[in-house]
Amino acid sequence: MDTGISPSIAMDDTALARLLQQAAAHAIRYRSNVADGLQRPSRNFTEMLATFEAPLPETGAEGEAIIDRLVEDAEPGLHAMTGPRFFGWVIGASHPVGVAADWLASAWGQNAANHVAAPAAAAVEAVAADWLLDILDLPRSASVGLVTGATIANFVGLAAARHEVLRRVGWDVEAEGLFGAPPITVLIGDDAHTTVFSALQFLGLGHGRVTRIKTDALGRMLLPDFRAAIDKVDGPAIVVMQAGQINTGAFDPFAEIIPLAHAKGAWVHVDGAFGLWARAEPGLKAQTAGIELADSWATDGHKWLQTPYECGYAIVRHADAHRRAMTIAASYLPATQEGERDPSHYVPELSRRARGFATYAILRHLGRAGVAAMVARHCRVARLIAARVATEPGIAVLHEVTLNQMLLRFGGEGAPADDLTRRTIARLQADGVCFAGGAAWRDMQVMRLSVISWYTTEAEAEIAADAIVAAWRAVQKG
Ligand SMILES: *Cc1c(COP(=O)(O)O)cnc(C)c1O
Repeated sequence: MDTGISPSIAMDDTALARLLQQAAAHAIRYRSNVADGLQRPSRNFTEMLATFEAPLPETGAEGEAIIDRLVEDAEPGLHAMTGPRFFGWVIGASHPVGVAADWLASAWGQNAANHVAAPAAAAVEAVAADWLLDILDLPRSASVGLVTGATIANFVGLAAARHEVLRRVGWDVEAEGLFGAPPITVLIGDDAHTTVFSALQFLGLGHGRVTRIKTDALGRMLLPDFRAAIDKVDGPAIVVMQAGQINTGAFDPFAEIIPLAHAKGAWVHVDGAFGLWARAEPGLKAQTAGIELADSWATDGHKWLQTPYECGYAIVRHADAHRRAMTIAASYLPATQEGERDPSHYVPELSRRARGFATYAILRHLGRAGVAAMVARHCRVARLIAARVATEPGIAVLHEVTLNQMLLRFGGEGAPADDLTRRTIARLQADGVCFAGGAAWRDMQVMRLSVISWYTTEAEAEIAADAIVAAWRAVQKG
């Protein structure tokens, strides 16, 4: 029937239910089967582009048909990131409870900028923020911004740092910018994550004008080198540390470095995108000793906590510095009273999705004990994989596995091993039983594994380790 208006405006309750149930049915089928299929996409980017490429539609079409077609087209290009044997990069598995809460966040369509527009979203964020400080055992009076990920959490922490170290010398960076400002010295470990350098670049602090501190074999800042560098500091300074090196999982020596930095008035920011979650597991917490002394911390929900993407947390000890660095003021925005909290005061965005719902739901579902058990399991699984592949001649585990990250190398030393390692990675990925990627570490080609999927168990570890050994044997056969 031609109603004369667009089909979506005319959508009745039955059509609405069909559309959303259909999307749910697709999601359920996908998630139920992901463990059994190829653990890599069957089509690459170029092929996916060819699948999707089309001129802008001149007229609309029914929603159900579009969703069906989207699923059919997209699925060959999906990576099994929600599967049990995905070890690429550092990628959480979007736990179903988080996904369900996130669906509702989309369905409710809240613009979570402020507490008047979105009371439920703002309140759930406030509670989730308190829970995060509790489970990560950071100062309970710290402020928390729910951002898109650790890249922006690093940006927010460093923006607060920039504000505070310049405020202390009488410079208002928010108003005046950096033109004519007293210079800020930035000290950072040589093996810091690339996104910290991006954050410095966004803030006008430059990714190149930093003082890089030499690191040890695991990527941890060397104390004597740090001491020599901080001794020379005179004036505003920021020190960037790391909890969980992306290759080795190692932690900087917080307990030694932070007091030295503070003695010079420096702000200490910690990138703990995944490693900060070691705080939630009593057996691992000692590795992070002293981290609670820092001034700001960045971490992710969408990695070890298993929330869906995009979910990161910017945590700042000095709530005032956090707010001043981020606040957006306008006459049409409501003011906050004591005890009220506007999500946008702690993040760069104004309009934003209500990502507090997913964080809240996951933390309620797993509880303190569930998070601790998951983190412990992933570290146990990582050690299991390392032990199992290490029995195979020609496979080297390059460091003691102390967290969830590990580096493997194939075929001994030198350029031939680089090539053999590259070929083993390619073979493993083609086989599709599990997925791991490559990285460069200390001028060597390595295979990197990150055990951080909710679904990865000890049994999956054995399958994955055997797949790695099989790939290596196949490469040797040529
Ligand atoms: C993943 C990661 C980041 C970046 O986080 P995003 O969530 O991808 O923005 C920063 N630092 C470390 C150590 C990471 O592992």
